Amino acid sequence: MTQLPTALLAHGLDDTGMEVTNPATGEVLCRVRTYDEAGIDVVIRTAEAARKAWAGELAKTRAYALRDWFNLIVAHREELALICTLEAGKPLAESRGELDYAASFVEWFSEESRRAYGETIPSFGHGKDVIVTKEPVGTCAAITPWNFPLTMITRKAAPALAAGCAMVMKPSESTPLSALALEALARKACIPADIFRILPSADAAMVGKVFCTHPTVRKISFTGSTAIGKLLLTQAGSTVKRASMELGGNAPFIVFADADMEAAVEGALVAKFRNAGQACIGLNRLLVEDSVHDEFVDRYVARASALVTGNGLDPASQVGPLINDRALQGVESKVDHARGQGASLACGGNRHNAGAQFYTPTVLTGVTQDMEIAQQEIFGPVASVMKFSGEDEALRIANDTRYGLASYLYTRDIGRAWRVMDGLEYGMVALNEGLLGTEVAPFGGVKESGLGREGSRHGMDEYLELKYRLVGGLSS
Ligand code: ADP
Repeated sequence: MTQLPTALLAHGLDDTGMEVTNPATGEVLCRVRTYDEAGIDVVIRTAEAARKAWAGELAKTRAYALRDWFNLIVAHREELALICTLEAGKPLAESRGELDYAASFVEWFSEESRRAYGETIPSFGHGKDVIVTKEPVGTCAAITPWNFPLTMITRKAAPALAAGCAMVMKPSESTPLSALALEALARKACIPADIFRILPSADAAMVGKVFCTHPTVRKISFTGSTAIGKLLLTQAGSTVKRASMELGGNAPFIVFADADMEAAVEGALVAKFRNAGQACIGLNRLLVEDSVHDEFVDRYVARASALVTGNGLDPASQVGPLINDRALQGVESKVDHARGQGASLACGGNRHNAGAQFYTPTVLTGVTQDMEIAQQEIFGPVASVMKFSGEDEALRIANDTRYGLASYLYTRDIGRAWRVMDGLEYGMVALNEGLLGTEVAPFGGVKESGLGREGSRHGMDEYLELKYRLVGGLSS
């Protein structure tokens, strides 16, 4: 049994609490303390009482605290990556990459905290000045998923704290440990304990309701499925909260005949199989132009079937387990259903013997837009290949979904690249690249993929309100 690094988790452990298991082996890693409705209410009230002092600090003071947090996260890179692999299953190399990505948001927002500039507006009348300042929203609450258990915490908490807000968060019941470890490091960094709290719970519906209906909470931020996002938006309407929603995706990955084929195969490999396909920006539909379809599929299948599936602790592993049995069954039934509707199996299509929750990297061909698998988020190591002919058809297929998060295209024709980027109804589009996440750019979707943006300078605005100040009586 792998030793869980408990030094950063001690404050959250409880022998009678919620079990956390390793999805690669099924072993119970530890038990964590959970919060009931009354406990959450106390934490929210305490955060609200503490946040004014935090907002009253100089921006520079908040920047330094966040910078300390960043330094501590980097200094504990190996422990955090190990915790992430143990509870989420991803290969250690991916956990280290995620840790760096998670840390980058803390660094970025430590810098942004000093740049929450307002504006002055040319006046509408003599003897009056019009000034706009930016002020923290207040006490915020967030609910995060298990697929990026480190990043989902920092991408929301860092801008909130930088802006002068308090933040209380419920991590996924599958992955509370990464969140608790980050909380421990924030305390070490002298970020006041009351203004950043991690609240594990096995009763997500109860926590969601408390967060969304609590009169003190001024903003809810959520990353997860579109179905739960809609529920939270409805609940948050009762107290007119601000909301940021990072919801599901159905990313098209379009390969035109003139693309650099090798680069497109590589890009499609990482866009699909990173984190065993459990990413909202992951490739969901692989659209390949008919004249290069067979060549592309041959190369792609050769690469996908050579991926090493196994326990994330093994340095050779490239594809880890699915998060739980329900996820595994969901992927299995989507593949079976697609085959029943006429899709063909080019490789994979079965469970993998690395453990109970592993699925073999799979490529399906002959997928069409009317099949269910083309309309649903697959969230597993399964690529659906579709054929198209020409730009118009590519765009028609790509946009035929209620989602609008990430999209990808490969072409070397600059005119086509711009036309297709213009036409894609998505919050993010990557040209000739298979990975697009970065702290410097706004991450988010349109349509039913969500509201708001995370990261970049726009990520701060999600936690700031505008205050218009009219200063009159200035005429002499
Ligand atoms: P996923 O299928 O990726 O886990 P979910 O949307 O189900 O996506 O979960 C994302 C987060 O939403 C998790 O923290 C989970 O506990 C939480 N969650 C699930 N159901 C609810 C609910 N009814 N209300 C609030 N949060 C929920």
